[in-house]
Amino acid sequence: MIQSVAFIGLGAMGYRMAAHLPKHFDTVYVWNRNFEKAKQHSIEYGTQAVDLKQAVQADIIFSCLPTSKDVENLIAGLELKAGSIWVDCTSGVPESAKQLAEQLKLQQVSFLDAPVSGQTIGAENATLTVMIGGDETAFNQALPAIQAFGKLIKHVGASGAGFAVKAVNNMLLAVNLWSVAEGFTTLKAHGVDLTEALDCINASSGKSGVTENVLSQRILNRSFPLTFALPLLAKDTGIALNLAQDVKLPTPILSLTQNLIQTANLTAEADADFSAAVKLYESWSKITIS
Ligand code: NDP
Repeated sequence: MIQSVAFIGLGAMGYRMAAHLPKHFDTVYVWNRNFEKAKQHSIEYGTQAVDLKQAVQADIIFSCLPTSKDVENLIAGLELKAGSIWVDCTSGVPESAKQLAEQLKLQQVSFLDAPVSGQTIGAENATLTVMIGGDETAFNQALPAIQAFGKLIKHVGASGAGFAVKAVNNMLLAVNLWSVAEGFTTLKAHGVDLTEALDCINASSGKSGVTENVLSQRILNRSFPLTFALPLLAKDTGIALNLAQDVKLPTPILSLTQNLIQTANLTAEADADFSAAVKLYESWSKITIS
């Protein structure tokens, strides 16, 4: 029986995910490094902005920070409540999840890696996909809290499995993003109407999340709204590549894509959305995808 939940990290995703918790639980603690955001959240959604020490006394503790390193640093030195479950929604590193699960076991706390997919709009509408690695009993116990913001919620394996699925998913997003940039630039160079081409492709076998959503909503209209930062995508493609290389697989496409996304990230303006990676290709081809 879950009496209290906490959410740590009220960023683009966390702020919106935590907003659903008070609809299901009476006691919802929130904490954020910039504490003004936690106070604002409590005013907007009826959560309780508390210090970190108190937040981690909840039965279920969610975190959603940029990287696994941030989560490791945060957890180090914290005294947790025996029997509680830490559900980390960061897109993190599988090896870190395994280590944190072992480390928290010493305090009789379970650690689940539970990254999410669906972007800020999915967080807002509570329609996120949640892919979870770790102890299955802990997963079943935490499920009612995860359902507050998740729609498709899957236990995908042991510790680290959730982070692995998320990293591979985002690598596929990056592969699609780059290939769509090359493909649509080619069409434009041949004088094809890109909007009409997009309609055809979205009704054909070459469609993807990038052609169905990203291209029309972010690239063709030149809006590139910042909802998922490019450095975060570069982090995820790096995690996916490392996973493949750990088991000595050949990685021609993954290596190239990681290299391209990393280069796009290094050359991008500050606060670039992930979709702005195509601007690197535009600078090479001297053709704008519009
Ligand atoms: P944001 O940059 O918007 O938010 C990051 C949050 O983490 C902020 O609350 C920030 O606090 C906090 N934070 C950063 N560093 C630290 C630290 N060292 N210690 C404590 N708190 C810290 O990121 P997102 O919400 O976009 O992403 C969070 C995670 O979710 C990432 O792993 C990302 O890859 C993943 N993700 C993002 C999606 C998206 O569409 N944005 C979609 C799916 C997954 P402060 O306010 O003080 O800076």
